[in-house]
Formats: sequence, structure tokens, C-alpha cells
Amino acid sequence: MNLELLERLIQTAGIAGREHRFRKLILSEVKGLFDEVRVDPMGSVIGVRRPRPRNGPAKKAAKPKAGAKPTRVMLAAHMDQIGFMVRHIDERGFIRVNPVGGFDTRNLFARLARVCPDVEDPSKDLLGVMNPAGKPIHIASEADKGKVPDISEFAIDLGLPAEQVKKKVRIGDMAVLATRFDRVGETIVGQAMDNRIAAWVCIESLRKLPHHDAEIHCVFTVQEEVGLRGAGTASHSIEPDVAVSVDTTLAVDTPGVPDDQRVSKQGDGAGILVMDSSMISDLGLVEDFDRVAKERKIKAQRTILPRGGNDGGTIQVKNAGRRVVALVCPVRYIHTVTEMAHLEDLTACRDLLSAYLEQV
Ligand SMILES: [Zn+2]
Repeated sequence: MNLELLERLIQTAGIAGREHRFRKLILSEVKGLFDEVRVDPMGSVIGVRRPRPRNGPAKKAAKPKAGAKPTRVMLAAHMDQIGFMVRHIDERGFIRVNPVGGFDTRNLFARLARVCPDVEDPSKDLLGVMNPAGKPIHIASEADKGKVPDISEFAIDLGLPAEQVKKKVRIGDMAVLATRFDRVGETIVGQAMDNRIAAWVCIESLRKLPHHDAEIHCVFTVQEEVGLRGAGTASHSIEPDVAVSVDTTLAVDTPGVPDDQRVSKQGDGAGILVMDSSMISDLGLVEDFDRVAKERKIKAQRTILPRGGNDGGTIQVKNAGRRVVALVCPVRYIHTVTEMAHLEDLTACRDLLSAYLEQV
């Protein structure tokens, strides 16, 4: 299993609207995987693979069955991670940020952060410390201790004089949290599993897929975390017959949460999303994924997310409407810097997507 690729995907910074570095990585990683690759005006990467029938030479168009066009399948994997943009630099050089996507501020205390003044070049990144404004525990009042600060109260300290910070950093620069990528037991832990896992699942599933009758349009979308924006425009240009949104979902099979609210269970395999608050998956597609998982003996679980959305929500309602399903990988501690994914769930997602594409 190609964990080296997953680590590179996870450690490459890219928030909504600043997907530049991640796009560059994707473009180099998918060389040879598609017949055609383009970047749309919003910045989404679209790779097209024409049918590769079992009995014909690769890369040649399939012989259509009596006037029928090949089924056009769109895959959507959002490239953006949650993070921040620099909003203000104060007189002492402290940086205030605007959230780009939703962090739980309870997870933002005492974090190393990375401010990225050059959207392309990671060697220019500046390391800093993120903390909420206020007093340390020794001198804080009881009322202060119980307070959960708003994101606007957090500041990044670059450890530099104010004039240097103002020279190096501009309003709108990307900032992300800095963290490691680790193997922990049977899992991997790091930030941005949501949704670097999906890029990995798409790339790895296509790598192990020599033959397919469908025309596959694999889209690495922009700006999902701020309202499913890039997937909508990409879908409009592709006009797919079927779309599979690939994403992560909550695995809240952890202490303090009743079993009926766990959403998905870590280690129980690929998640077939029945509904979330952005969409209801096409029932026929949910049943197709159930069937393929059963036939190929791939671990899978149906799942419902009461609150939260995915790219499928916007693809479904584009043009005259689309048949959409979402394939989701269970992730514990989602939207923190210690997101955790089970290796068996990752391979189940990869294998199920590949098996589905082989037969559609
Ligand atoms: Zn996501």
C-alpha cells in the first residue's frame, strides 16, 4: 500500500482558494494515468480516461454498443483542506486569521502553525505558534478558564519583530497548522485526511484498473470546504451520467458518544453514504456499491451523516440533475490535526471504487 504517496498528499498545504501546491503535486502524480488532463478556470484538475475495453488496445475508444455512448462517470475528490487566511497584522506583529473551513476552536490551543507567504514555494513558509488571546492558566480567572474562544481571538506569533512580519506576510496569505504524519497501531494519523485520502483513493484505484467501459472524468475539485464550489462548475462542464463523490466521514466510535450516533465504525470498511445534509444518494447507486462490495468481498458499511455536506450535494443539482453517490472513508477526530484513518478502511475504499469502475 502506497503510504508514501498519502504522506506527501497530507503534508502538502492547500486551503480553499490556495490549492496551488497541491494541484502541482496532483498534476505530477497523475502523469500517464489519464488520456487528457486540464485545469478549469476555478483551478480544479480534470483527468479524462477514455474506455479501455478488455479485448481492445488500451487508450483506444471502445466500440460503442449499437449507437450507445459510453457511460460518463465523474469522480470528485476535493483538494482543499481547512485552514486560515491572514486577516490582520497588529502593531506587535501578531497575526490574526480568518477561518477557511470549520476548525473546532477547542482544538486550536498551543498549536504550531505555518504561514505561507509564497503560495507555490514551501521553502518560504514561516513557522509560528497559535494561541487564543488571554492569560495563561496561572493567572486566568475561573470564568476565563471555562470560556471557548472565538476564532477571531486567536493569534499567530512568528517570533519576529513586527516590521519583519509586515515585510514578509500579506493579508490573504495562507496559514495551516503544522503537524506530523504518523503510523499509530493499525492506523495513520495526521491533518487533512479530509480530504487527501480521497485523492489517494482516486489515484490508487485508477492505477489498479486496467480495463473499463466507462469514460472516467476524475476531478480534483477546489473550494469544497467553503461551500462545495469547484465541484459544481466542473460537473456543469462534464455533464456526467453518474457521479461518485469521494470524501471522508465521521467515525465517532469513541468514548462519550452513544453507539447510535457513531455515524461510521473504524475498521468496518468503506462507507457508502446514504445521505447527509447536502444530498440523498441515488438509491440505485447505493445498491450497486452494496452489490459490488458483496461480490468482491470488500468490507463496506452504509452510513448517514446528520449534519455536513460533500461535493455530491452540488453535483446532484447541476444542469438537469445527476445520479450521485458518495464513497466515504471513516475518520476519527475529524477536523483536528490528529485525524485518524484505519489502513483497512483506506484499502477498502480504494478497492471498492476500482471494482465499481470496472463493471459500470
Ligand atoms: Zn471533505
